[in-house]
Amino acid sequence: MQFVTLQDARGHEPAVVFDDQVIGLYDAGFHDMLALIAGGADAMDRVLRWAESPPGGERFDPSAIKLRAPIPRPPKIICIGLNYRDHAEETKMAIPEVPTVFSKYATAVTGHRHPIVLPRNSTKTDYEAEMAVVIGKGGRHIPESHWREHVFGYTILNDVSARDFQMATSQWMMGKTFDTFAPMGPAIVTADEIEDPHNLNISLTLNGQVMQSSNTRNLIFDVPKLIAHLSSVFTLEPGDVISTGTPAGVGFARKPPVYLKPGDEVVVEVEGLGQLMNPVVAE
Ligand code: ZN
Repeated sequence: MQFVTLQDARGHEPAVVFDDQVIGLYDAGFHDMLALIAGGADAMDRVLRWAESPPGGERFDPSAIKLRAPIPRPPKIICIGLNYRDHAEETKMAIPEVPTVFSKYATAVTGHRHPIVLPRNSTKTDYEAEMAVVIGKGGRHIPESHWREHVFGYTILNDVSARDFQMATSQWMMGKTFDTFAPMGPAIVTADEIEDPHNLNISLTLNGQVMQSSNTRNLIFDVPKLIAHLSSVFTLEPGDVISTGTPAGVGFARKPPVYLKPGDEVVVEVEGLGQLMNPVVAE
């Protein structure tokens, strides 16, 4: 199944894509995506029953809807740095032996087709194509072998980064968490539809030109390792998003460097998860 969050008169409403239609879930009792994710198997049963015979007002034409990020305010957005061998090499950083972890605040989240706003106080805003894991069942000290029980699904995240702020100190977070720096979506694809998240083509185009092209098999720390490592420190909760890192080809490592500018269009594609498109505007 695929889940999206609609932007509509209610503000936002979770919906399921079913038989080429988008079916709102608000009147089925799900007022946001987090409630649906936290509901586990019972919630999925209710969604299926609802989707098979929804009331007329809850059917939307996919071409007429406006999306928000599938999870407009995730409890946590956990990002992994330098998690593709080729990207670690292009940044002249050592291949990490322990995952590099940072985060973005929920205010950075935006959706498919919404603009990335270039901060007026940065001149070095860059893109990063990433596959992201959405946690279903939460937990602490989750063993690697139990990882599948805790994954609700997968989505796409563009880890937009202001390199000047990111590199100004040893802590990257300020460069990573400007408003609109976490475009996410368009949908969450449930885990049952992705047989192996470690064999998905991932790419990014800037104004139609391919800038990044790789496959998630090149991840240094795979999803089981990340879930075990992160949950050894803090509780993973339903709706947490783990963005797994970006492959080579980012703008700042190019010669000459390429930074985002107003009027650009960035598209991230991950096999099986669709395409996340964002225009770029000035603040
Ligand atoms: Zn990243």
